[in-house]
Amino acid sequence: MSPNMVFRKNFCFVSLTLVLLTLPPARAQRTQLKPGWNLFSPEQDVEIGRQVSTEAEKQMEVLHEARVEAYLNRMAQTLAAKAPGASYSYQVKAVNDMSINAFALPGGFLYFNRGVIEAARNEAQLAGVIGHEIGHVALRHGTNQASKAALTQGIAQSGLAILGGVIGRDSLGGVIANLATSFGANSILLKYSRDAERQADLAGTHMLYDNNFDPRAMIQFFEILEQKSGGRSRMLQWLSTHPNPGDRMQLISVEIDQMGGLSQNFRADSSEFRNIQRLIKTLPPPKEKPKTQPGQPDSKPGESAGGASRPDPPSSRLLRYENAQVRLRYPQNWKISEENGSATLAPENGTVADAQGNSALAYGMMVAFSPAKTPIQSPADLEQATSQLVRGLQQSNPKMRLTKAGEPIRAGRERALATTLVNESPLGGSETVWLVTVAHPQGLLQLVCVAPEKDFTLYSPAFRNVVDSLVLR
Ligand SMILES: [Zn+2]
Repeated sequence: MSPNMVFRKNFCFVSLTLVLLTLPPARAQRTQLKPGWNLFSPEQDVEIGRQVSTEAEKQMEVLHEARVEAYLNRMAQTLAAKAPGASYSYQVKAVNDMSINAFALPGGFLYFNRGVIEAARNEAQLAGVIGHEIGHVALRHGTNQASKAALTQGIAQSGLAILGGVIGRDSLGGVIANLATSFGANSILLKYSRDAERQADLAGTHMLYDNNFDPRAMIQFFEILEQKSGGRSRMLQWLSTHPNPGDRMQLISVEIDQMGGLSQNFRADSSEFRNIQRLIKTLPPPKEKPKTQPGQPDSKPGESAGGASRPDPPSSRLLRYENAQVRLRYPQNWKISEENGSATLAPENGTVADAQGNSALAYGMMVAFSPAKTPIQSPADLEQATSQLVRGLQQSNPKMRLTKAGEPIRAGRERALATTLVNESPLGGSETVWLVTVAHPQGLLQLVCVAPEKDFTLYSPAFRNVVDSLVLR
């Protein structure tokens, strides 16, 4: 080998290293995201989204504040330029609602409650939420859910016919009407799976990263939701439509590492965001909500603004309820509002509006589920998972106190733990929270039974009946 050859080889090595250093962080490392199976065309997403948005806007108080709207739309266009999947032209509106929540309808119709804009600590955090919603749209989660439902809800035939090209995509009107044009708590378009949530988190993280926003803002915003939202109901608003996949924070930080870690140049805030946030804080508070608005995403049966009358005592006749994890029986005069794997079973007037106008459970129970990475098998596992859950509840409800730690009971045939807590009732005074936790093959099942302290003995037998009827699925 001649000295010259050695030189040339070294030279090549050096220039290759330089190229590697100046290339943007390897995009190939990031999780690849693409829309799942869908019966609808990307154009039909827009059609469906437009129809549903008309209905949605009748049920929400849209904030017609031009500067806020212009800012949100600009942010969405910027972020969406780096979105995976289908591209849409986004239309964003702000909603006069203090709860921390946001909605995305297929085809790019986005709604952000003012609660989100007020709660964000900087622009990057708001961008994270916008990116998350854009992720749902671009990855077409709403119509993907609707498509899956089409196959399982008795219109499988038309679904298959569409797939086979027997019915043209243009004659989907009937299918759309059946499936997708309702808006509200039970809208199939808003029933995101935990997997869809994971994808939206990742898509949002990518959009932050590619727009030079600090991608950690995504994690920070979820931390605000989990710890500092100052009340169960404000936080539950978000979780009701965006179920926590369980490992949210870890997933995002691993993704950031895979994308090449953090750079010095990330921005977190802007004076424009500060101005918009200041402006929105000066806007008049939400108008009082009408007594009941069936289908409104954050309304629960019997919700009323302010002083609710006392609900009727629980009926001893029972009805059957089932979801993906559990089957149980509940009092006939309770109503169910189901939101992504978590359900509220409550009597008329069992939920009330709190000081911020958010809905809070005063009488009744919530059936919730947290997936676990490792199965909860031994009694010690269950104890550990339960105390972790209790700590989480206490973080978001600072007034909540433990009165009786996990006591082994039976829930149907399952081994369970019953924990008793005291909290501030949304009606004023104290409430008793009887928390029953059950190990499920995929995670932890939670029955959160709530009633004001003075009425708890009246409700206790009903809660016990529900717990006794429980069968895992
Ligand atoms: Zn989501």
